[in-house]
Amino acid sequence: MATDTPQEFVFQAEIKQLLHLLSHSLYQNREIAIRELVSNASDALDKFRHLALLNSEIKNDEPLEISLEPNETDRVLVIRDNGIGMTRDELIKNLGTIAHSGSLEFLKNAAQQPKDDASNPLSLIGQFGVGFYSSFMLSDKVEVLSRSYSEESGWRWESDGSGRFTVEPAERLTRGTQIRLHLKADLDEFTKPWRLKNVLTQYSTFVPHPVKLAGELVNEQKPIWVEPKSSVTAEQYQAFYEHLTHGAGDKPLWHLHLTSDSPFQFHTILYCPDTNLERMGFGRVEHGLQLCAKRILVQHNCRDLLPEYLRFIYGLVDSADLPLNVSREALQDNTVFRKIKKVLTKKILTHLESVAKDQPEDYLKFYRQFGITLREGLHSDFEHREEIGGLLRFATSAQLSEQEDDVEQLTGLSDYLKRTPDGQKQIYFLAGPDRKSLEKNPNLDQFRRRKLEVLFVTDPIDEYVLAHLRNFEGKDIVAIDSASVELPPTSDAEKAEEAKVEETQAAAAESTGFKRVLELFREELGDDVKEVRASKRLTDSVCCLVNVEGSMSSQLQKVMSMGDRNFELSKKDFELNPQAPLITRLCSLADNASNTPFIKQCGRQLFANALLLEGLPLDPSELVSRVQGFMLDAAESRTHS
Ligand code: ADP
Repeated sequence: MATDTPQEFVFQAEIKQLLHLLSHSLYQNREIAIRELVSNASDALDKFRHLALLNSEIKNDEPLEISLEPNETDRVLVIRDNGIGMTRDELIKNLGTIAHSGSLEFLKNAAQQPKDDASNPLSLIGQFGVGFYSSFMLSDKVEVLSRSYSEESGWRWESDGSGRFTVEPAERLTRGTQIRLHLKADLDEFTKPWRLKNVLTQYSTFVPHPVKLAGELVNEQKPIWVEPKSSVTAEQYQAFYEHLTHGAGDKPLWHLHLTSDSPFQFHTILYCPDTNLERMGFGRVEHGLQLCAKRILVQHNCRDLLPEYLRFIYGLVDSADLPLNVSREALQDNTVFRKIKKVLTKKILTHLESVAKDQPEDYLKFYRQFGITLREGLHSDFEHREEIGGLLRFATSAQLSEQEDDVEQLTGLSDYLKRTPDGQKQIYFLAGPDRKSLEKNPNLDQFRRRKLEVLFVTDPIDEYVLAHLRNFEGKDIVAIDSASVELPPTSDAEKAEEAKVEETQAAAAESTGFKRVLELFREELGDDVKEVRASKRLTDSVCCLVNVEGSMSSQLQKVMSMGDRNFELSKKDFELNPQAPLITRLCSLADNASNTPFIKQCGRQLFANALLLEGLPLDPSELVSRVQGFMLDAAESRTHS
């Protein structure tokens, strides 16, 4: 309901906090407020132009532009656009009742960190949509005068940022919005043309509309994406990146500048930022690409131009073959749009492949940031499964180079395969909670002995990813604790060696003592295991658990059981190394019936040890009392001096 007297509203609680932080805690980079307001003005112009293209009744009668009008005497700065404007309801909703998710969290975080700390994320402020509210970093009072393209008269919004705002009708407004900043006492620099010009050249060069300062044009609006690569300077690429990211301030890891003329025409510049904000806990990245048709922006944050798993890429795509006058929804069904998406995806993946090949260090830097997002593609993009698989990186049992022990070395699947011996038909991996437990995993014994490389997977999602990928370059990917492992055939010398080991193992396994131990362990463990038997795979370790063919790997089962309390871990085979000193000792005790309870306790404990090493759940109180029992025995068998 509209009335003539000013109506008062309260800001949404989150915005109130945001405003407080903005006006009281953030003193640095105040000029970004100008960039935010110019960028809003530019969006308003884009929206209007798009509407005018869709609807011939809307007249685009005067040139669309943004102007900054400083008034030194009154200490007022006006930022004006003749864009789409806002109705009363839009003013209330957009500038007071809906906060952008994440922005408050982000600011609280930034405000707590030392201001001069290079890692202070303040420079990312624009990416979190603080937008309009940043005007309170500069002003004691802000007035917004706006007339929507759809209305005959306009509205005046006003606030001092302390919790409330008012809205009332305003006469004699032309279409568009003016933001009138009543500058804080110490900030009259923002009425000085040299200062404003400085800010505008730093932040607004690529705004696609004329920006005028006191009537004079200050930006070039040069579409560098249509220029040949050779004529674009590194500074221009950087400045354009800053424009797209609202001043992220970092240096992108790489960029791709592509031009195509057939079968359809397009130009694009794509950037990969240097940090993955999602990894820093800022929620899902939703920025999308800028989409232009013949240099005119048709969609601001177009999220459908790239698959989800490449959502971290910033960029602009401009195609002369895209229709200007269709809605967002219709655009998604456009054939050219879909083909551009396909080409971009392919080009990015190919580019990543070449970075991985030619600059492996740079690739790892990329992977450590964005691998987590990229691997989602295996799940959603079947067409590029093999390419994405080739871009994954894993830790490995192999020592890849001498240097830097503290930085874990990573390998790709193709490189892994290049190192495998002839006859190895599978890609081996082992999953576990961390590298240390993986290295102690008994299943590794035979791989170590035969110098077979095993990928180490400590992230459950990576294990899931590998299970999903299933095979790569024609080789099956298998967990070494599964029964489906096949080892490559051995050379004659190795065969002889193996045969010898097997022979002695078999002999040890045949002994009456060992058979008795197996029997006692079986009695003790009962249904907790599927089978207890002699192992052929162990050389150093005492025992291990083996997954029965067809069952999920331990780690995967662990992940499932975290999500579902009723999830039952599948039973495993329990294998003993007949030659391990502990086992041979137990064998020699087995013929004396009075040792039976002790041997059974040992079986129970060895089983618990195996579970522990794999990070699988077990009953701690039972374990503790048993170990204390052993300690008591050991203590009693000692004589005191
Ligand atoms: P963002 O621009 O990230 O959406 P803002 O807080 O800067 O966030 O603006 C909120 C909304 O207010 C915008 O989405 C837009 O709808 C509206 N708005 C802001 N400035 C203008 C303007 N100059 N003209 C028209 N609408 C505007």
